[in-house]
Amino acid sequence: MSKILIKNLKEIITMNDNRERLKDSSLLIKDNKIVKIAKNIEEKNVDKVIDGSKYYLFPGLINTHHHFYQTLTRNLPDAQQAELFEWLKYLYPIWANLSPEAVYYSTLLASAELLKTGCTTASDQFYVFPKNQPDNLLDYQFDAAEDIGIRLHACRGSMSLSEKDGGLPPDNVVQTDKEIIDDSLRLIEKYHDSSPFAMKRIVLAPCSPFSVTEDLMIESIKLAREYGVQCHTHLAETKDEEKYVQDRFGMRPLAYMEKLGWIGEDVWYAHGVHLNSKEIKKLAETKTGVAHCPVSNMKLSSGAAEVPEMISLGVPVGLAVDGSASNDSSNMILEMKAAFLMHRLIHGMNSITAEGVLSLATNGGRDILNQPVIGSLEEGKAADMFMISSERLGFAGGLYDPVSAIINTGDSQEVDYTIVNGEIVVENGKLTNVDEKEIISRTNEISKKMIAGS
Ligand SMILES: [Zn+2]
Repeated sequence: MSKILIKNLKEIITMNDNRERLKDSSLLIKDNKIVKIAKNIEEKNVDKVIDGSKYYLFPGLINTHHHFYQTLTRNLPDAQQAELFEWLKYLYPIWANLSPEAVYYSTLLASAELLKTGCTTASDQFYVFPKNQPDNLLDYQFDAAEDIGIRLHACRGSMSLSEKDGGLPPDNVVQTDKEIIDDSLRLIEKYHDSSPFAMKRIVLAPCSPFSVTEDLMIESIKLAREYGVQCHTHLAETKDEEKYVQDRFGMRPLAYMEKLGWIGEDVWYAHGVHLNSKEIKKLAETKTGVAHCPVSNMKLSSGAAEVPEMISLGVPVGLAVDGSASNDSSNMILEMKAAFLMHRLIHGMNSITAEGVLSLATNGGRDILNQPVIGSLEEGKAADMFMISSERLGFAGGLYDPVSAIINTGDSQEVDYTIVNGEIVVENGKLTNVDEKEIISRTNEISKKMIAGS
């Protein structure tokens, strides 16, 4: 049994139901669980003792939507002035050069950035399966996640509707419905762990209404419900998508999802920007979730989701960085800042607080991913957390509220310690399981190769 004792923390931000903040308290981890939180803890045979007196301790952040592979195509000059559909059409031919090595290293890169900014659980949607590559690309994500030590809910994404059939992606990155369903079943059987504290889960996630067939949406949710796995897709992201669905199916995107059975507490959508009040009420009634991606929505000029209204009606809302080509980073603390500023600007001063944003990134993610043991620091819950030193230049003169401090101040959003499932994966600001320099050089090489080959 491994034991970690963090002593005399400056403050523990629990994010429990009472939003307790505990000063000068200690926390004991045994294996993968928090077993004790108290003023003074005396414990024998501890493997590691950390002096917490200068640190703030937060629950690990939960990222509910990402495309790790896009770290290899971020910040491309020709994609900087494009809205979603044009942006996708420019990038699909480059993504057609994805290889197992590219999937493995991009997962390491995105996870490294996430872990170093306090994120301990990520849901990634991988949906590009090029025709000239092995179809087990998603397996390489699990290999990388295990190597670096992040908790991964991997979405088996898919595209089956190519340009020639009226969809958006080119033919060389789409698969048949049968190939997709067969691989989804293989992945569920190989990886999906439905037990609490699971480090690996599968989600079925056809990409969007404009890149998959109606049949695939129906077959995917049928299979998911048979095996008790969740479903995820992009929805109501842009006005272009709304027009596409209206023209092709004669209804709005949410009505289309409802018609296909894609609504309910086992479903969450990325974005939900263009939803009207009636539709938001429908999400609340059915407990259908939304992954809010403010940086991506601002960068691609997609719009501002009605998050304050969603929260007040009881829609489960989580926070997400979205793919690195539309962000272009994987930094959950900056995402919290973006959410905070976006809603203060669009919806007014009282629309959201710093703690409200932290709640989206912790409790909200927990609810959406159906992992009740993460998202708060409490005895019996998973040992997923991050620590940040109060002795930073950017915090100086402002040590009154650590939650507001990490969102509003700070010279760096990189944290000092990150612990996932009881394992220290970032220590003194450094990743413990992987070589950061190697990740940087390999991903730069792979990225160049992919762009040259397109
Ligand atoms: Zn996305």
